[in-house]
Amino acid sequence: MDISTLTIDAVREGLRARRWSAAELATEALRFAESENSRTNAYLHFSPERALAAARGVDERIARGEDPGPLGGVPVAVKDVIVTRGLRTTCGSRLLADYIPPYDATAVVRVEAAGGVILGKTNCDEFAMGSSNENSAFGPVRNPVAPDRVPGGSSGGSAAAVAQGTSVVALGSDTGGSVRQPASFCGVVGVTPTYGRVSRYGLTAFASSLDHIGTFGRTVKDAATLLGVIAGRDGCDATSAFAPVPDYTAVLDRNVKGLKLGLPREYLKDLTSESGDLIHAGVETLGRLGCEVREISLPHTDYAVACYYIIATAEASSNLARYDGVRYTLRSGRSETLADMYRNTRGEGFGAECKRRIMLGTYVLSAGYYDAYYLKAQKVRALVADDFARAFRQVDAIVAPVSPFPAFKLGEKVDDPLAMYLSDIYTITGDLAGIPCMSVPCGKTAAGLPVGMQILTRHFDEGTMFRLADAYEQAH
Ligand code: GLN
Repeated sequence: MDISTLTIDAVREGLRARRWSAAELATEALRFAESENSRTNAYLHFSPERALAAARGVDERIARGEDPGPLGGVPVAVKDVIVTRGLRTTCGSRLLADYIPPYDATAVVRVEAAGGVILGKTNCDEFAMGSSNENSAFGPVRNPVAPDRVPGGSSGGSAAAVAQGTSVVALGSDTGGSVRQPASFCGVVGVTPTYGRVSRYGLTAFASSLDHIGTFGRTVKDAATLLGVIAGRDGCDATSAFAPVPDYTAVLDRNVKGLKLGLPREYLKDLTSESGDLIHAGVETLGRLGCEVREISLPHTDYAVACYYIIATAEASSNLARYDGVRYTLRSGRSETLADMYRNTRGEGFGAECKRRIMLGTYVLSAGYYDAYYLKAQKVRALVADDFARAFRQVDAIVAPVSPFPAFKLGEKVDDPLAMYLSDIYTITGDLAGIPCMSVPCGKTAAGLPVGMQILTRHFDEGTMFRLADAYEQAH
């Protein structure tokens, strides 16, 4: 069996035709993932016992004549910011290097209830802060397409695992682009659903008002199927929405005639690179499929990066306060007083980027600066969201780039945080507005680097987003 090209449908068909059992598939998937991992460092650790137990459960269901579930036997990788009971969850941080969570995230429970087989936990930027995966305490991930380049971040390990073919689908998290940007850099599909569509219970908090669990697949259908499994109201997350979850695979009818698409002027005006050419070609394809394309304006785009890095750091500074050496794992041994212990634990445990954000976030929340920065950023956030609301009165979907450039070289931007932050310009706005957005591969540059096209739709209208992306994928 060739694990690296399997889709969810191919797994289902292989099990139905008895070409292999779920346990055989899991064993081979684990062997392949472990042997390939030295090339990318995509996985931080594997979970063979858990994977085989899940796979045997699927085989038993099949033997009893039952439906094994929408993910029956499908190998799944999970970003290491999503907690797994009894299975180490590090968040890419030295602080949590030995942390074994006592519970499963709701998304993980739902994946396994649907028959999914979790192979292991994937590498990421520390606490999901970064755009290149270079902020992991356990070494960077290399892009499987070009090993001297970054896979994007912060969900770089999940994107790389799916691109490399060591997993069929994967879970990631997106606060400011961390699913779409690595999907774009690695040439796979990455989906950020509406804020509240998927429970955040068990997703380690970075910036709670922006955090989403998202999905990766090699096809639109696979990423959509995984989202369908994890989406829906969860009593453990008060912000998870009651909105009913449609059958996303049923809406992929390839008919996009008459859909109105908006091209944001502000996103395309500076995009003259090869990435821009590929996006324009993608839009032309959608036009040929019968979509009506028109230019729109999202006038507050210029303020989005500044707004995001105030709100995200403010929330992060508060969320990361819990890592104090009292709870969780790491505790500095060289402390005499309680205050020393806090200081030393956090000093030794957090990497440079987390410290930068804790300081920035504490500053913008402090008395005297709160009104000037945090409160102002909240007002700007409302304006950014309002830009989208106004645009969606004219169009059904927005098509945009994901990143100003394709995957960059390892080390290229790591010493320039501002350049790194500015590269999030096209992805941050969707998170600030809380709307669904995704990246779908739209070709490669002359140097062979993948580029993703972004599709954004109205709140809870993932269906239209998937319909467009799937029609485009088939036509492309
Ligand atoms: N690159 C952004 C940041 O560093 C986004 C991270 C994310 O979406 N988790 O904050």
